[in-house]
Amino acid sequence: MSLSLEGKVAVVTGGSRGIGRAAALLLAKRGAKVVINYSKSADEANQAVAEIKAAGGEATVVQADIAQPADAQRLIDETVKTYGRLDILVNNAGVTRDTLLMRMSENDWDTVLDTNLKGAYLCTKAAMRPLLKAKGGGRIINISSVSGQAGSGGQANYSAAKAGLIGFTKAIAREVASRSITVNAVAPGFIDTDMTTVLADEFKQKALAQIPLERFGKPEEVAEAIAFLASDAAAYITGQVIAVDGGMVMM
Ligand code: NAP
Repeated sequence: MSLSLEGKVAVVTGGSRGIGRAAALLLAKRGAKVVINYSKSADEANQAVAEIKAAGGEATVVQADIAQPADAQRLIDETVKTYGRLDILVNNAGVTRDTLLMRMSENDWDTVLDTNLKGAYLCTKAAMRPLLKAKGGGRIINISSVSGQAGSGGQANYSAAKAGLIGFTKAIAREVASRSITVNAVAPGFIDTDMTTVLADEFKQKALAQIPLERFGKPEEVAEAIAFLASDAAAYITGQVIAVDGGMVMM
């Protein structure tokens, strides 16, 4: 059983920053050709590609707002056009619009659901044919969250999207298991990225008190779980949620 991804082609949505970037770098290091998707951060996406190429890997960028059906389809089409196949889809792109439900606008709700949940549906649907064609045991890895497992006050939109992603993971896992495609979710806890640096210090201290390992995680630690699930070593794991959260949520 190997962790090698030699000969595989991977798409990482939201691969320009944070967890997606770390995942793209590690997948490339293990031998995959990687398509780094971004919506706005062109410089960061190009820097990630440059870093992969400098280390001897292969990667390219595709700008696409994954919440838009035509963009999601184009992301997958350009991947197949560039590299001839698709083996691994990491549905990682995500946003937050945190506020109490009483103050949550319909726009806050729609933006988070459209990106975090509908975006995964759109990309997965577009990826299904090439994943089936690749015949090498495709991989879909959805980035959920502890908020989807346990709920998080001030994040009704985000918790709903991330919980939805877990149900989505399990449903698709059942649909495609007979074709040797596995579908799993990774549920990070508090990870040091742009998404969490904006949180108030008081909130961070409260979060820290709930983490048995007494620290926030690193994007690279989440990337390890993603790369494992993408590999042949994880061929018999499907429909699961792997927590990378310092012990925050023990189920
Ligand atoms: P981040 O640093 O804010 O990065 C988010 C990434 O998503 C960026 O690359 C961004 O690209 C991309 N993105 C956002 N909207 C997009 C869209 N419509 N189309 C395409 N790309 C889009 O966030 P992160 O912390 O790495 O989070 C990555 C994933 O892990 C998210 O799904 C998040 O919910 C989840 N997660 C994070 C934590 C945490 O503590 N950080 C915990 C649990 C789960 P642009 O800049 O180009 O828009």
